[in-house]
Amino acid sequence: MDTKIVRLGEGNTDEEALREAGKILKAGGLVAFPTETVYGLGGDALNPDSSRKIYAAKGRPSDNPLIVHLWRTEDLYLVAREVPESAIRLAEAFWPGPLTMILPKSDLVPKETTGGLDTVAVRLPSHPGARKMIEFAGGFVAAPSANLSGRPSPTSAKYVMEDMNGRIEMILDGGEVGIGLESTIIDLTVEPPQILRPGFITGEMLSEVLGKVENDATLFSVAGGQAPRAPGMKYRHYAPKGNLVIVQGEKENVVAYVNEKLRKARENGVRSGVIAASDTAAEYEGDVVKTIGDRRDEEVIARRLYGILREFDDENVEEMYSESFGDESRARGGLGQAIMNRLLKAAGHQVIHV
Ligand code: AMP
Ligand code: MG
Repeated sequence: MDTKIVRLGEGNTDEEALREAGKILKAGGLVAFPTETVYGLGGDALNPDSSRKIYAAKGRPSDNPLIVHLWRTEDLYLVAREVPESAIRLAEAFWPGPLTMILPKSDLVPKETTGGLDTVAVRLPSHPGARKMIEFAGGFVAAPSANLSGRPSPTSAKYVMEDMNGRIEMILDGGEVGIGLESTIIDLTVEPPQILRPGFITGEMLSEVLGKVENDATLFSVAGGQAPRAPGMKYRHYAPKGNLVIVQGEKENVVAYVNEKLRKARENGVRSGVIAASDTAAEYEGDVVKTIGDRRDEEVIARRLYGILREFDDENVEEMYSESFGDESRARGGLGQAIMNRLLKAAGHQVIHV
């Protein structure tokens, strides 16, 4: 299949391109598009064939449900059988924006879209191009991240092309995304509500609106063999091709430990890499050292993480070490939760304390 690639340009609201994308989606085709979180791989959420095509294009297991994207809040009542008070309050506080809510699904949404579940994941993105496209597509676009299953989510159109060229009808290139990590997912079908995936809308922010909120037991550890409640979170996600280990501890200890490992890697002819904050990056002796940003600037760390994981793949790095980021903010329910959740998954939960 020939994939048409269109740059959205200034403001990301190129009406002609978005109309064309909408038309492709209505006809059952697939379009990758930018959102404020990561690039999405869109299909008509109400068309079971479109959802099947999404799973095929990504190589994604079909028990892994898709998020339904809306362009206006009132459509929530069409895809959800019940809309609790908590959902209305969250929509008022955080929509349009990077928050996905799990609700009981209505009959309008086919099971193919929800991976066979009776619940549906719904989000209203804030990206102006994404919203226009969803409107032109008829209002309901199922979209997982636009990567091949198991690869880091794409934060720029370049990475979408790497994974999706030839597999889908169209790619809308909106440049680099703003947030860089997927939406927060909160399950409102349980009491208290449960965070199934941490994101830019943090636990702290959700608690301010909802009161008590719990974390799924598997967000930061492989909890006694328990399965995560978001089916997709059980797969080894965000995985770089090489082996990644997180090293935690006092700065000097981390640098010393990692440098020792890097020396051994070099002796063995293994290509090595490091993810470091800007204050320590110069101290590492790896073949490839990536500076993720100032360790106090968690928004930058979030935005850079997936791109760095992909760059390691491009540079054929086999053995990688990462510093730990946002530990303090993670403890109080800040953005550090989302960063460490993704980093831990990328590392297959391999953490060394020094
Ligand atoms: P992605 O769109 O690739 O970022 O992945 C969507 C995530 O949402 C996956 O981890 C899914 O398992 C999760 N998800 C979607 N729908 C549901 C649902 N009804 N219940 C629980 N998790 C869901
Ligand atoms: Mg994904």
